[in-house]
Amino acid sequence: MKVVAQSRRYLGHPKPSLPILRRIHDAVLIPKITYGIGVIGKGFSEETFKQLTAVHRKLLITLSGGYKTTPYLSLCKILDIIPIRLQIEQQMYKWNYLYSSQTTDVLNLSIDRAVEEKFDKSFAPESEEVKKLARGKIKTQEELNAFLASNRYSYLCFTDGSKDETGCGYASIVYDSSLRKITERTEPLFKYASVFQCEALAIINALETLEKKIRFNSMSLVLTDSEIIYKALMRTTKQHLLIQCIREKLVRLQNENKTVHVVQVSSHSNVTGNEDVDQLAKRARRSKKKVKFDVIPRSHIKKQIEQHIACKAMKQFEQNKSRSLMINIPMGWNTSPYKCNISKELLWLLSGHGPFNQYLHRMRLKQSPTCPCGEGDMSNHHIVSTCSKSSQERDNLIVEATSQESELTNTVTRVLETTIASGTLASIELINHFAKEIIKLSSNLCNNIN
Ligand SMILES: [Zn+2]
Repeated sequence: MKVVAQSRRYLGHPKPSLPILRRIHDAVLIPKITYGIGVIGKGFSEETFKQLTAVHRKLLITLSGGYKTTPYLSLCKILDIIPIRLQIEQQMYKWNYLYSSQTTDVLNLSIDRAVEEKFDKSFAPESEEVKKLARGKIKTQEELNAFLASNRYSYLCFTDGSKDETGCGYASIVYDSSLRKITERTEPLFKYASVFQCEALAIINALETLEKKIRFNSMSLVLTDSEIIYKALMRTTKQHLLIQCIREKLVRLQNENKTVHVVQVSSHSNVTGNEDVDQLAKRARRSKKKVKFDVIPRSHIKKQIEQHIACKAMKQFEQNKSRSLMINIPMGWNTSPYKCNISKELLWLLSGHGPFNQYLHRMRLKQSPTCPCGEGDMSNHHIVSTCSKSSQERDNLIVEATSQESELTNTVTRVLETTIASGTLASIELINHFAKEIIKLSSNLCNNIN
């Protein structure tokens, strides 16, 4: 933590740009602060959170070049960074949901490895004909018949998974060597299931059918149109439970001297059976059957946690409306944080903690908060939108912004708001430039009346 707090020393000279610092912040500093937080975070007291927030605040000020008095939430909002406490909460949720409850699965891995060692890639046949099938070269019934005759496969299984916003499902169809449909099976899944799960379960489903059907010393072929599943099967390091399940089944069949080959076909090939199973999987989505497999994919859990935390952060930002924060900044405005450079001048201008008489007066550095133009206090709001001294800069910005966006935006605050909300690099550059001009002007004005 000390290292982080003293990071000012390590920044070097000239100071690297904000995007680079941002990358260091995300990749080095935050992991350093939150390391192991899933385990130790439960014991954190309010005091610890306060200390961590203080460290993070110092860090953000150092990175962005803001004034030391800038409020933490203003910094987070302008830089579009989630407050540290919520980041820690997110880590803790992830730990709870993804790791601690699944300890039994982790313990099972040693058994899974043993399967992996037994697992040679003999499930993937290398013959030219099968490759032809995989490339979608066999399109007609006759071609498929000829293929089956020359390859001695007694069963042919087509598998497919399907997911859209209405639901998920998967299906498998088993044909015999004369392409008679033996069985077809469909299963629905909950909406949150992933395509990966659908496709893997479809293969498991097909293998289960084959376990019952095929005879000793026979050969069968399972076709999938999922590249990810096929690659995961080929890679021996993949430790996904469903992939393990497929492997176990293949090994078991192999041990019983029943050969099953798995082949990836292109999803848009017109191979008979492929279209059928595609339709069937789509029907499975709407099936009213009870869902058997309800393991929530990790990706879904992560997404849910992220949404939850974003929601909380938004609420915090809304509750803490700082009056000096100049415009309404939407959360998540910075879609390319590793490219977008917010100059320190812009930060000063937006946060109100900068060379403005009103601010300096509040900090007891100036006797009077008034502006040399004689029209009231010199706050960031005043200098940007009403001060007569800055009218030239104001007009320039409006002209440039409207020519860029071809939209009639008439006030400066409105221009700033839409620019931040759009988050495009060119327009951020534009307001960076504007902020620099304004700050130059206001620091001159500040010096004048002192
Ligand atoms: Zn003024």
